[in-house]
Amino acid sequence: MTNEVGGFFVIQGFLLSRHCFQSAFHFLIPLRILQMRRAIYPGSFDPVTNGHLDVIGRALKLFDEVIVAVARNDEKQALFSLEERLNLLRETAGKIDNVRIAEFKGLLVEFARTKGAGAVIRGLRAISDFEFEFQMALMNRKLEAGVETIFLMPKEEYTYLSSRIVKEIARLGGDVSNFVPACVAKALSRKFDR
Ligand code: ADP
Repeated sequence: MTNEVGGFFVIQGFLLSRHCFQSAFHFLIPLRILQMRRAIYPGSFDPVTNGHLDVIGRALKLFDEVIVAVARNDEKQALFSLEERLNLLRETAGKIDNVRIAEFKGLLVEFARTKGAGAVIRGLRAISDFEFEFQMALMNRKLEAGVETIFLMPKEEYTYLSSRIVKEIARLGGDVSNFVPACVAKALSRKFDR
């Protein structure tokens, strides 16, 4: 409860001058930013699918802010350039409150540290994802004990969905509109010149 009384603020029984109140306010804003529970969701996102968006939605129930981060040092041969992948993410995930889109190069845990993120989000679809993800999570923990990896399972209908399968369907002329946002479906048909 805050009431202003002649230049003073009465906060739960305490008297504070306006100056004191403003200083406290300016101090509390950065404090709030520092205390935000922030997670990094890294990946190739080549391109972003409804499965990725499902994972982001779940992560937002646990964190104040999710940074979707596209790896720049990905050894995988990508269909979409880094800029195209970032733009598709900006048009989709980037429109959701408390989601930021970024790119990173080098060690993921290092990136997490510079962003003040205490967690890395990964999606688990099937047992086949598990071995690789488990290895990565343990290695990241060895590199930086302060960053936890959290695995989230998507809606059942997205458990068989991957960027790779979507690209394959699109390449063969199939309809991908149930698996990706509309702008991604358009970008895929442009890529395959349909
Ligand atoms: P990466 O090259 O890091 O695997 P991806 O873009 O393929 O990049 O995936 C990023 C993350 O999203 C990974 O944790 C992956 O398991 C997860 N993911 C991808 N597709 C789905 C999906 N359909 N459902 C749940 N998680 C998914």
